[in-house]
Amino acid sequence: MKATRIAYSKDLNAAKYGQLEEQARRLGRVRAMVWARYGSPIRDGVKDRTIRDQWMADGTAETFGVLANAWKETVRDAVADVTAHREAGKLQVRKAVHRRYKDDSQRKRAYTDLKHGRWQEDVFLARMMRKHVKHGKSRMANQIVVRSDQYSTWTMADGNVWISIPGLKRRQTTAIPLNTDVAPTGTLRLILRDGRVEIHYTIDAPDLRQTRPCGAGSIGVDKGYTEVLTDSDGVHHGKALGTLLRTESDHLKTKNARRAKICAIAAKAREAGDLAKADRIERNNLGRIKQDRRRTRFESRVRTLTFTAVHTVIDKAAHVVAEDLTRTFASRKKLGKNTNRRLAAWPKGVTAEALNSVSERRGSALTLVNAAYTSQVVPCCRILGKRSGDRLDCTLCGGVWQADHAAAINVLERDGDPDISLYTPHTRVKQIIQERADRHRTRLPVQDSSPAGRRANHPIRAAMLNK
Ligand SMILES: [Zn+2]
Repeated sequence: MKATRIAYSKDLNAAKYGQLEEQARRLGRVRAMVWARYGSPIRDGVKDRTIRDQWMADGTAETFGVLANAWKETVRDAVADVTAHREAGKLQVRKAVHRRYKDDSQRKRAYTDLKHGRWQEDVFLARMMRKHVKHGKSRMANQIVVRSDQYSTWTMADGNVWISIPGLKRRQTTAIPLNTDVAPTGTLRLILRDGRVEIHYTIDAPDLRQTRPCGAGSIGVDKGYTEVLTDSDGVHHGKALGTLLRTESDHLKTKNARRAKICAIAAKAREAGDLAKADRIERNNLGRIKQDRRRTRFESRVRTLTFTAVHTVIDKAAHVVAEDLTRTFASRKKLGKNTNRRLAAWPKGVTAEALNSVSERRGSALTLVNAAYTSQVVPCCRILGKRSGDRLDCTLCGGVWQADHAAAINVLERDGDPDISLYTPHTRVKQIIQERADRHRTRLPVQDSSPAGRRANHPIRAAMLNK
């Protein structure tokens, strides 16, 4: 199994960065050209070698102004991107095939034609390919791909690693100091961002599936804002998320207010004709380098926290049931007015990604279910409870629930629910819940009205009290 590692340049001087930037700009042209000429669906199956031979034969290669190895690696990389883009579209086409043909042999023939790029002659497949595989393009001009035999690394006396990569001309190299004492290996992807070079490379990671077994049984999880996940046992995972989001949100609020003020001063200067002052302010006071770096650091912190939380959930269970986080558009939970909305929405995607990737890596199962009303139904009596903040009250038995915990239990119960599928509309879900509650009520005998009796009628509530 593979994992990506990133090393960063440390105190790289501007001249070297400029050289790398120029090389990346020229390679960006090569990348754009691959997309423009070979990005259409009808170019399905064209190999990077074919493109290379073509461009060397017709003189196109001479216009690139970079070394042969550099543009050839870029062509290989761009063709891989084009293929991935096309395969993603083919997934949709495969679904369309499934809907159109009911017969297994017809489906199989269509799948095979699609796989081997023989869809042009088939009218239906060709139409679907045109519909689902759009001609993509690339404006990416900040990357350099370097093959493993094209660079060298060494360690300085202070323990830091340096790397030397080919420049624009033969025998000209650029030496980059790195912030690490581990030398990168294999094919490198250099990404130039804000005056700094990121060096991405893959390494063989130990197989987690063998080193860390999953727990047993099933568990439901609910996504929160103060923690990454709450499970159906009522345990919170990744509790630091709330603080992390709040701190970042507060920081952004003050920073953005100050930026707005400075922006206004610059605009005033520009209006008054003092262009030098306006430019100076924009350059020195309104830059985005520090801001972007902070954002990157914040995001990587949230990612680490999220992935760790998902790991601890899978330590407990072999089957995780969760809501489909990519499908919930409107926020179900009240946010404080100081919480930056975009900031709060973003970790959801990370949680969805972590659930997917960690379960795949560790070999546990993940089931996505319909989340409608899961945070409003009380697990004790299965009616819509009264929500106040974090608390969910049962109006029938007086049970008190922590809303996230209740949601996780409901999510777990949605798995295998005969009436509520992932695609049942939320209005219908509400109907079903009410119908069930009514049916339940009419079937029940007259209840013991003493508090002890009330409790005893509800096994979950009773179990909670015994804890
Ligand atoms: Zn109840």
